[in-house]
Order: sequence, then structure tokens, then C-alpha cells
Amino acid sequence: MEIIDGKKISAQVKQEIADEVSRMANEGKKIPHLAAVLVGNDPASETYVASKVKACQAVGIKSSELRYSSDITEEQLLEVIDKLNADEDVDGFIVQLPLPKHISEENVLNRISPDKDVDGFHPCNVGRMVLGLPTFLPATPAGIVELLSRYNIETEGKHCVVVGRSNIVGTPMSVLMSRKAKHANCTVTMCHSRTQNLKEITLQADILIVAMGVPRFIKADMVKEGAVVVDVGIHRIPSDKTKSGWQLVGDVDFEHVAPKCAYITPVPGGVGPMTIVTLLKNTLLACSRKHA
Ligand code: NDP
Repeated sequence: MEIIDGKKISAQVKQEIADEVSRMANEGKKIPHLAAVLVGNDPASETYVASKVKACQAVGIKSSELRYSSDITEEQLLEVIDKLNADEDVDGFIVQLPLPKHISEENVLNRISPDKDVDGFHPCNVGRMVLGLPTFLPATPAGIVELLSRYNIETEGKHCVVVGRSNIVGTPMSVLMSRKAKHANCTVTMCHSRTQNLKEITLQADILIVAMGVPRFIKADMVKEGAVVVDVGIHRIPSDKTKSGWQLVGDVDFEHVAPKCAYITPVPGGVGPMTIVTLLKNTLLACSRKHA
């Protein structure tokens, strides 16, 4: 069994991005610029935005944070987006979700110019992904493809089972794994809460990608011997084994599943670190496309 080390791979990719940004700077080209819009003060959102800004700084990408109080109206937020769409210096931007209840996330995401949509959430970019056209790929699924490819894990002709069908993880993941492309070409089965006999299906998986949001749901008897298991879930649960009194776990019962696997991602340190890497790659792509 080999642990897929997301921390190590994300450090490698970040170094490659940093080298590219520094090459652009040396050639007198424009440095990529990512803007992040944060509405309200949800602690998790604050943490996510802070880590995105920090990651930009680490690789030399310019970043800016635009903060608004939670009583901003939808109209005002759409004006902010229009300004960012028109701002020549900003190559890509993200609006951190979730937004306050009175604002339609759909209206907001649809207003972002597809050329600056580095989260890859705009329907145009989702459509391009489905058609296999060049686009900004969604962060978590693209990060997982990167992990599988960096570990030279054979995917062609394999049965990939994706558990979860959210718009940000499960659905794009199943699309990416089924594409006629390198590091894809899988036969994909997508499962969700209405799937019958889930265990029968997961047991067939050569590659099992789990994004359910249920702590330690996938047990050892649901996994085939020699499978590759990718655990997207992340949960903070109480623990009497740690000093802090809590620990991070995934959707997979790592302790019992890992011995059966050929490869497995740990939580933390597996998929998580790769998510930001895709955002950086997309920002670099947005900048290079615009100034090609
Ligand atoms: P969602 O809650 O949006 O989706 C969960 C999916 O799992 C749904 O499609 C749901 O089915 C399905 N599901 C839930 N329970 C079951 C069940 N018992 N059997 C089969 N399917 C089930 O979650 P996300 O996709 O947003 O996130 C999933 C997990 O990944 C979360 O723990 C989240 O925190 C984590 N995450 C981690 C990231 C990272 O960078 N590491 C990034 C994004 C998410 P249905 O559609 O029928 O409701």
C-alpha cells in the first residue's frame, strides 16, 4: 500500500508555478493577479480565502482580497463583479461560497466572466469541460487527476466509482475520469444517496473516489483488494486520542481500508492541498491566455 502524498505533490506543483511566474517576470511579462471576494465573516470562508492568498504569495502571484459585510445587496455584489470583469489588471477572481441567504449564488456565479472564472463554476466553463475543450477545470476534481497522474496510476479502461454527485466535486469528477484523455478513459459509475446496493458497486471499483460528506462511511468490506482510494471528505470530529480533543477524518475509514489498497489518500494531507494548486494553475492560465 502506498500513501498518495498530496502535500508533497502540491509543493512540487507550486514550485513549478513559482518558476513559471518568475520566468514571466524576468521576460517583462505581466504577473498573474487573482482577486478573492469575501462576503460576511464566516470563519471557514475566512480561513479558505486566507490560505488562497497565502498560496498566491508563495508562488509570486499577485492577490487581492475584497471584503464586504454580509448585508451587501445582490445588486451591489453584482456591481463588484462587473468591475472585476472589466479590471484589466485582474486575470481571474473567485467569490468565496457560501453567500448570505438573500443573495443568489447562481446569479453571482453566472455574472463572472467565463474568461476570469478560475473556479471553473460558470456554466460555459462546465459545458466546455463536458465537451473536453480547454477551460478552467474545477479545483478539487482537477487536483485529484493531477495526483493520479503524478503517481503514474493507470486509469485507462479501469472501473472508477465516484460516490457523490455535487456540482463542485462528484459530477465534474465523473466527467473528468470518463474523458477520452490521458489520465482518464475510465468506465465511470456515479453513486449518490438514492443508489441501491452501494457496497456491491464500490466493491467493483478499481478506482474509488469518495465525496459524500459522511465521516468514515466507506468501510473495509466495501473496498476491493488492490483498489486505489481517493478520499475527498474532510470532517473535524471529537477525539480522545489527540491533545486538542479533535481530529480530522475523511469519508473513508482510513485505518481499516488502507491495508487493502494499492494507493490511498490520507486526510489531512491528501486531496485538500491539491485544491489550491488548481486555483493557482487556473490563474496562471487566465493570465497567459489573455497576454499570449
Ligand atoms: P455535498 O454534500 O454537496 O454532496 C454529497 C454527495 O454525497 C451527494 O451527491 C449525496 O447524494 C451523496 N451522499 C450522501 N450520503 C450518501 C450515502 N449514504 N450514500 C451515497 N451517497 C451519498 O458534498 P461535497 O461534494 O461538496 O463534499 C463532499 C465532502 O468533500 C465533504 O466532506 C466536503 O467537506 C469535502 N470537500 C473537500 C474538499 C477538499 O479540498 N478536500 C473540497 C470540497 C469538498 P445526493 O446528491 O443524492 O444528496
